[in-house]
Amino acid sequence: MNPSKTGFEKKRETVAPGIVKTIDSVSNPTIKSIRGLVSQRKHRKESGLFVAEGLKLATDALDANWTVQTLIYGHEVREQEAVSQTAAKTRARGGTVLEVSRQVLSSITRRDNPQMVVGVYKQKTLSVDEIKPAEYAIWIGLDTVRDPGNLGTIIRTADAVGAAGVVLIGETTDPFAVEAVRATMGSVFHVPIAKCSREQFKKWIVNWPGQVAGTHLNGAVDYRTVKYDGPCFLLMGNEQAGLPDDMADTCKTLVRIPQAGQADSLNLAIATGVMLFEICRERLKL
Ligand code: SAM
Repeated sequence: MNPSKTGFEKKRETVAPGIVKTIDSVSNPTIKSIRGLVSQRKHRKESGLFVAEGLKLATDALDANWTVQTLIYGHEVREQEAVSQTAAKTRARGGTVLEVSRQVLSSITRRDNPQMVVGVYKQKTLSVDEIKPAEYAIWIGLDTVRDPGNLGTIIRTADAVGAAGVVLIGETTDPFAVEAVRATMGSVFHVPIAKCSREQFKKWIVNWPGQVAGTHLNGAVDYRTVKYDGPCFLLMGNEQAGLPDDMADTCKTLVRIPQAGQADSLNLAIATGVMLFEICRERLKL
């Protein structure tokens, strides 16, 4: 959708790119629009933008060639060299820089003790047809993941093992929600995210050239005994329902992580981490 069509975006246009503007009012239309990116998935979807907190994330984003649409920092940190360098890079690439009060930052981040730097970034996602499975690539498929903390943690763990990317399948939580972005600790800028419906996934995965391993509580195979050859696709189930039969049927192997004790399953992000480190053990000597 054309971002300029939304009411929020019409108001944003009053601040021209490339300039530094000072804003101290929480009811300023630009600030209201940025708050909308934090609180409303609909506004994130229509605008194609999202908010990430922290100077480190802004430098990560710039280093990884993401577009910083707006950089916002508090008056208190104006003199810090890292802040002025980041602001200069943002402006040089056509972004807007806003210097604001602590109250404005609190209103955006919904925190009494806010981060002093916040960025507004352009979302990036792929379609599954754009994925080119390289020989040693690991891709992670998440079926209808619901919890933003789980999703962010999985993106961070995927980054830690050098995975090629994450595919969000079906109706999932928003990877660009502030809670998910927070949990990625910056990895949202390093790990490609693809999106597809279950129907698209089922058609696409049949041509995957390597292992397709699904995790299932009733998996027939111990996850430590499988060969994760070639490009590896790891498919994880939903937090409540696990993998439904039609999705499990897309896998070449269904694996189980043996458990002791009374817990009926592992948390989704933990199970993904266990699997990823097993898959990479040989190929990366981790
Ligand atoms: N009640 C759900 C079920 O019956 O599958 C539990 C889902 S579990 C919280 C979320 C996902 O984590 C599962 O779909 C699976 O992908 C993975 N998982 C958790 N524990 C696992 C285990 N012991 N073995 C294999 N996969 C597991």
